Amino acid sequence: MKTIIEPFKIKSVEPIKFTTREERIEILKKAGYNPFMIPAEEVIIDLLTDSGTSAMSSKQWSGIMDGDESYAGARSYYRFEKVVKELTGFKHIIPTHQGRAAEKILFSIFGGNGKFIPNNTHFDTTRANIEYSGAVAVDLPCKEGNDPDLIADFKGNIDLNMLDNFIKSNKNNVPLVMLTITNNSNGGQPVSMENIRETKRICSQYNIPFFLDACRFAENAYFIKLREPGYQGKSVREIAQEMFSYADGCTMSAKKDALVNMGGFLALNDDDIALKARNILVVTEGFPTYGGLAGRDLEAIAQGLNEVLDENYLKYRIRTVEYTGQKLINSGVPILVPPGGHAIYLNAKKFAPHIPPENFPGHSIVCELYIHAGIRAVEIGSVMFGKYDKETGKHIPPKMELVRLALPRRVYTQSHMDYVIEAIIEIYNKRENLKGYKFTYEPPILRHFLAKFEPIV
Ligand SMILES: *Cc1c(COP(=O)(O)O)cnc(C)c1O
Repeated sequence: MKTIIEPFKIKSVEPIKFTTREERIEILKKAGYNPFMIPAEEVIIDLLTDSGTSAMSSKQWSGIMDGDESYAGARSYYRFEKVVKELTGFKHIIPTHQGRAAEKILFSIFGGNGKFIPNNTHFDTTRANIEYSGAVAVDLPCKEGNDPDLIADFKGNIDLNMLDNFIKSNKNNVPLVMLTITNNSNGGQPVSMENIRETKRICSQYNIPFFLDACRFAENAYFIKLREPGYQGKSVREIAQEMFSYADGCTMSAKKDALVNMGGFLALNDDDIALKARNILVVTEGFPTYGGLAGRDLEAIAQGLNEVLDENYLKYRIRTVEYTGQKLINSGVPILVPPGGHAIYLNAKKFAPHIPPENFPGHSIVCELYIHAGIRAVEIGSVMFGKYDKETGKHIPPKMELVRLALPRRVYTQSHMDYVIEAIIEIYNKRENLKGYKFTYEPPILRHFLAKFEPIV
């Protein structure tokens, strides 16, 4: 059979509230034209993020009922620990309330003034935790990763030559190297096994610990199976295990590939570092056998980590993103190619070339997606990352103007995606009608969350 179907049946449903175009125009206006300010109930298809938005399975929900809420040594912790150990091979498994809590602990130990932490591309929270410690977060993406129009298999890779040179010239000040799999901030693009192996080789040469930011390890492993020579005959679990085998530890947000709504962990091999980490954990998160989570959360994570490696699930997951991307490409809609693991990124510079960066072309598309079809997406461009020249006050745009449509896991069906595709194509076909926006309130930091706008008429 050629048709790929959702590999699950739906046992419990949540109704979608439908709104009219007129209603949405009012709702968006009331939200100050900021999609973060729209009540989720007023959204028809919510593609704001894939983080913590997964649908859990009936087995995960039964694990929730079965969770052991003992303070110390809960049965649910041991199940969680066993599953994470089997998957990652790491010796110490430390639960945290989400991914950034694991990062906070890791960089409290490895960060500090004068230190540099290289990565293929740091995710925002990783960067923030590194900078908060006083260290510098360094992005070293491969060349292909910088070109939104170039089709390549592993655009998430780190540039190995740059990494080697960087370590050489900052030898005693690189306490740790990271790789983010898949590379979230760079289009959800995968990292090859060869790149992981070579990163490890370089780190070993300089005796530097190597950690994975493993939020989307299963999606990354599946891309390796599809694209990297020599891996077609291996199971995704074997591929994931090999990826982890090269690392000395990992941070993980369970809100992604553990298919739960909250949770995370830090896992590592070194006994001394683990002891330090657990000492921070008891102050900031909780006792080492629950670390900021309830027993039921640990049950749901353990179950989710097994379910995410089901190859029928991954085939459906990756194919959904690819299917959406392909339909858009076929209609001429400019997107970042190839589609990655968890999201479609519209290239707003090409989509709305008549709107200059300082009038937020990506934001304009986001607003129109909501008005036209009740779809919520997020701008990743001048609103989020624009800066001002200190002397002239002129707007300095980031490299790319993107709109991200992130796909929650197991939440939407193919017809939901067909609706999204239709809406984007209709907006694209009338793109000359898109209007620019300007701030009516501009917050001093992380301005995309609380900003207010108005359309330029
Ligand atoms: C989401 C994410 C994090 C942070 O995890 P939270 O659970 O949101 O704290 C870190 N790294 C990457 C790559 C992520 O996608």
